[in-house]
Amino acid sequence: MSHAPFRPSRRGACPVRVSFEFFPPKTPEMEETLWASIKRLAPLGPHFVSVTYGAGGSTRERTHATVKRLVEETSLAPAAHLTCVSATREEVNEVVRAYWEAGVRHIVALRGDPAEGIGAAFRPHPGGYEGSPELVAGIRAIADFDVSVSAYPEKHPESVSIDADIELLKRKVDAGASRAITQFFFDNDVYFRYLDKVRARGIDIPIVPGILPVQNFKQAANFAARAGASVPAWLANRFDGLDNDVETRRLIAAAVAAEQVIDLVDRGVTDLHFYTMNRADLVYAICHLLGLRPTTAEAEPVAAVAVA
Ligand code: FAD
Repeated sequence: MSHAPFRPSRRGACPVRVSFEFFPPKTPEMEETLWASIKRLAPLGPHFVSVTYGAGGSTRERTHATVKRLVEETSLAPAAHLTCVSATREEVNEVVRAYWEAGVRHIVALRGDPAEGIGAAFRPHPGGYEGSPELVAGIRAIADFDVSVSAYPEKHPESVSIDADIELLKRKVDAGASRAITQFFFDNDVYFRYLDKVRARGIDIPIVPGILPVQNFKQAANFAARAGASVPAWLANRFDGLDNDVETRRLIAAAVAAEQVIDLVDRGVTDLHFYTMNRADLVYAICHLLGLRPTTAEAEPVAAVAVA
């Protein structure tokens, strides 16, 4: 079925719901950048904002502190990422209970990578959750959390096949996951082919596309290599020769990201998750193009957040 082209300015109301992903800051300068970005993006009224958890739980305290501050100082709905690698069930459960007590109602539940890094074989911690489906079930047994999980349109680097990945996703859904957020991808056909397979397997939760606006091509290509996401030749070509031309790169970045999200929305996508890299400008511009506008109700509480 073909859709009418997406025309936000003519349609008026924005048909898209967005969410934003941040990582916990390491330094006071990074903290300042993060909160300035949150302050800028919050008035767009995201469905939720998520905060990542460092490999092997290395940012446990920083993730918790960022999520807690979101609860206390903003009207945003935070989603805390949580991994079960390198931890006992009790350690993980303790974090889950602390989130519930802090008022957090949404967890992004992940197996995670061993602290030695991607490529090192995953082995469940003795006394730990065996994997992500067991983690989802454990979280749901503790409290009535909204649980999101990962999905890999180009399969996870460790996966034997896309079908094996989809079976694992099915187990996560059966354990209580209510939404999957995808690894980033640059070719939208990859996402739609994956979606067809997921639906054919009887999985009916939202599969929210994860969008990585390419702010720095070399860095994005690096991430993609590690994440098993392909980088189309046309994308490399668009950034070709711009290594020392920041201004043109920024314009190209906005054009490329706009093209991707508008095509997704044209083809029926209603929810988008942005990997912000803690930077607001490009994401804000894309959301504006999609028809999202700041709302006063959302702007007020966040305006009170100190960014100095
Ligand atoms: P799963 O989806 O549970 O599994 C991934 C693959 O591992 C499977 O496809 C399969 O090939 C293999 N596998 C799993 N279980 C088995 C088994 N029992 N037997 C054989 N093979 C198996 N990482 C972080 O450290 N912190 C984060 O905050 C974070 N956030 C993320 C958010 C999103 C939206 C995404 C897509 C990824 C995120 N990651 C994060 C990365 C993620 O932790 C890694 O990709 C990790 O390698 C897998 O975790 P998972 O929950 O995605 O794995």
